[in-house]
Amino acid sequence: MTETAPPSTMTEAVLEALAEGLSEGALSNDSAELSAARADRSGKIADGMPIAVVHAQSVEDVQHVMRVAHAHGIPVVPRGAGTGLAGAAIAGSNSISLSLLRMNRMLEVNAADQLAVVEPGILNATLNEQLEPHGFWWAPDPASRAISTVGGNIATNAGGLLCAKYGVTREAVLGLDVVLPNGELLHLGHRTVKGVTGYDLAALMIGSEGTLGVVVGATLKLRPLVPGELWTIGAEFPDEQAAAEACAAVTAARIRPAVMELIGSVGIQLLASYTRTTLQGAFVLLQTDDNDGEQTAKAAAEVLERFGAKVELTNDLERSAHLAEARRQMMPAMEAAGNVLVEDVAVPRSRMAEMFAFCNDVGQRYGVTVSTVAHAGDGNLHPAFVFDEAEPTEAVWRAADEIFTKAIDLGGTLTGEHGVGTLKSRWLRDELGDAQYELQRRIKAAFDPAGIMNPGKVFGE
Ligand SMILES: Cc1cc2nc3c(=O)[nH]c(=O)nc-3n(C[C@H](O)[C@H](O)[C@H](O)COP(=O)(O)OP(=O)(O)OC[C@H]3O[C@@H](n4cnc5c(N)ncnc54)[C@H](O)[C@@H]3O)c2cc1C
Repeated sequence: MTETAPPSTMTEAVLEALAEGLSEGALSNDSAELSAARADRSGKIADGMPIAVVHAQSVEDVQHVMRVAHAHGIPVVPRGAGTGLAGAAIAGSNSISLSLLRMNRMLEVNAADQLAVVEPGILNATLNEQLEPHGFWWAPDPASRAISTVGGNIATNAGGLLCAKYGVTREAVLGLDVVLPNGELLHLGHRTVKGVTGYDLAALMIGSEGTLGVVVGATLKLRPLVPGELWTIGAEFPDEQAAAEACAAVTAARIRPAVMELIGSVGIQLLASYTRTTLQGAFVLLQTDDNDGEQTAKAAAEVLERFGAKVELTNDLERSAHLAEARRQMMPAMEAAGNVLVEDVAVPRSRMAEMFAFCNDVGQRYGVTVSTVAHAGDGNLHPAFVFDEAEPTEAVWRAADEIFTKAIDLGGTLTGEHGVGTLKSRWLRDELGDAQYELQRRIKAAFDPAGIMNPGKVFGE
């Protein structure tokens, strides 16, 4: 980083330089705002206080922040809605928290090209509300869609419930406008469906957790609204082994549900204390939305029954909503039982039953509550630790460590959708290996030679 004046003088100089070029009302050093910028939804709080929060209102605001930060060697932490679960948006001492929430417009919908151009701060659900009258939707569907931004979804390559059928965020983005750490504006990607000119830097930006540049605009790939009828299955299994094997068998039978979610037995017990559910064992929620949704659902039901499931199949919307409620209530049920650390590993779908068994085993060995829910259509498991203490205990971290290592051993990954952030950087090298780890660091340095773009995230210190 650039050596400049001592901290207090430098802080004043930075604040003065920021104020000179920003939109009115964009710069804040209100202590409540500074304090809020230290946290996201991971439970992690950054050390120290940022020097400013900037609420960017335009691309020029973002460029100005980056130029000032670059000139003074000050770290910048881009921030959407702060719903991240990896501690990637938290801003600590001597940094600037750059909020994109006020850049929240949809700028264009092009029906012929099936694309929309948006600013990064628009909420995922708001975007979809605005797209609906045009007969389109944007497929990435994190459970946080009502509260997370499209820019945040892009920066984390967010997934969700519909990924096995409709893909993750990377598959729904055509192009990005990005401000580099030195303030330069680049247009990456294309407005075309195809495009292979040069390296795919738009794809590289997606999932880079704010460490390479700031996303200030996105050209999104839209899908026409799905014309099919919704069919829902609620399936009760004696245990998660049978349920996980049944879900893998649905995939192996080449059936593509829109949603296939599995709640393990610990989760069902927590639900029973929180709601008046009569569910027992493990539960699978499966939904189909094709034109021939009924046939797809019946084929899936047959597979689930072969693994011992008690199946309910319905196209009644109220009943569907009731069955889906079990999945929706999972997070509140866990939060009612204690503090929660939601983890996020992914394994090949054929190894899901093994991973479930391992999570239960680890929970018992360490004496910690591990409630595992899976996006079973894509092998993405969320083992959630529920504990009474304010912070995850040593036993929780040791149990988590074993779960991450096991996921990698099974041919899986440390994080399916939440990202590395600060929480998982210490395991990154284990998955990537030395050569790839060093190559990735060199890529980061090529974008950000001064090391000011969300430092300490993904690669650690
Ligand atoms: C209840 C709940 C449910 C969730 N469910 C899911 C789920 O199903 N699937 C899933 O994938 N995630 C889920 N999440 C996690 C979270 O919502 C996602 O990671 C989301 O994409 C983060 O968006 P955000 O706007 O809150 O970003 P933030 O939390 O503000 O930021 C996340 C990261 O993106 C970077 N960033 C944000 N905006 C920009 C930008 N414009 N340019 C460059 N970098 C940027 C930040 O620096 C940070 O590294 C859930 C979270 C909660 C609280």
